Amino acid sequence: MREFERVEEVKEENPLDSMLYHFDQAAQLLRLEPDLYTFMRHPSLEVTIYIPVIMDDGHLEVFVGYRVQHNFARGPAKGGIRFAPDVTLDEIRALAAWMTWKCAVVNIPFGGAKGGVVCNPAELSRGELERLTRRYTAQLLDILGPERDVPAPDLNTDEQVMAWIMDTYSMHARHVVTASVTGKPIGLGGSAGRREATGRGLLIVANEAFRHLGLSPKEARVVIQGAGNVGGVAARLFHEAGYKVIAISDVHGGIFNPQGLNIPEVLEYHRVEKSFRGYPHAEPIPNAELLELECEILIPAAVENQITSRNAERLRCRILCEGANGPTTAQADRILQERGVFVLPDILANAGGVTVSYFEWVQNRMGYYWSERVVNHRLKEVMTNSFRDVLAYATRYGVSMRTAAYMLAIDRVAYDVRMRGIYA
Ligand code: GLU
Repeated sequence: MREFERVEEVKEENPLDSMLYHFDQAAQLLRLEPDLYTFMRHPSLEVTIYIPVIMDDGHLEVFVGYRVQHNFARGPAKGGIRFAPDVTLDEIRALAAWMTWKCAVVNIPFGGAKGGVVCNPAELSRGELERLTRRYTAQLLDILGPERDVPAPDLNTDEQVMAWIMDTYSMHARHVVTASVTGKPIGLGGSAGRREATGRGLLIVANEAFRHLGLSPKEARVVIQGAGNVGGVAARLFHEAGYKVIAISDVHGGIFNPQGLNIPEVLEYHRVEKSFRGYPHAEPIPNAELLELECEILIPAAVENQITSRNAERLRCRILCEGANGPTTAQADRILQERGVFVLPDILANAGGVTVSYFEWVQNRMGYYWSERVVNHRLKEVMTNSFRDVLAYATRYGVSMRTAAYMLAIDRVAYDVRMRGIYA
């Protein structure tokens, strides 16, 4: 079979369809046994919950929340929780499966899960956010836990939200359970280096890609969409590593300077102003145009479906390094592949976050904490090995890095399912 066969039939902007398309391709190339294929294509458990919250003015509102646990073959389910107005169950299903594949790509002993709450955190007070988080956690108590399902930050959730989850879980358990969630504040059992881990992982795989392609990172132009925990940190780390970050954006829009941005100054401006608008030493640029800038590395680090069949022809990057989950649709992926863009797929490129989440979980269970130097060193080892493992599949099967990453992941999960057997 050919790669990207019948890709035009995928519903383009449904992340679940995209995920399943890549899964199917990889499974076919691996000649995965039919029973394993059927088993691995489905999640293990999905819940929809209705979360009552007393709002600050005294009235009650009910929010919709989800948790999807995709696969437990290799260990407890692992994955973030996002708070956003447009969260859908299909999106959470896709993200949960991506966590299974991601954990397998970096070879850590977790399955995959994801959660979400349909809400607009910008419109919620701190008290409302806390009550929402606690009640969401309380309703999921039976299916969470260090040996069962371990949440983490994702879109619009941070260390504070993780601390509330840990506290709620611990109150019900009647003892402190630090390993119930990762991405916690350092004083509460968080790991050194966790906050930077996703951005650092991007840098490590980008360096590997440069080496593989025979390019020099010195002065290489980097364009970043997103200035949150992934994009903002990536900007700082790429800048420190000698790359030239020429553009960065947030949801409202971005800034561009072909000479390179003074990243520490830009990030400080953004921290104070909460926007890049009015930043004096660069031109404003809308998000859509930013993606089409000529550069060596483009890092989409915001949300899904940014690179589609509508703009993929116009991208002018040598390497696409996916900080977000699912930023590229399956159709766009084929176009990029045909155009020779080297794609570092999300389930490899952004796996630094969950890798250090794993380190955090290990440290919690040991009660012994590692220095940031040790964390970063181990992260580098994991990411470098994973890049090489994926590249080896890409070379051996003559496929793109994305298909190779899925193949590697499916191979690893399938091996474990085969060994355990399906309790059917
Ligand atoms: N939300 C992050 C991701 O999509 C981190 C998940 C985790 O650390 O469990 O990979």
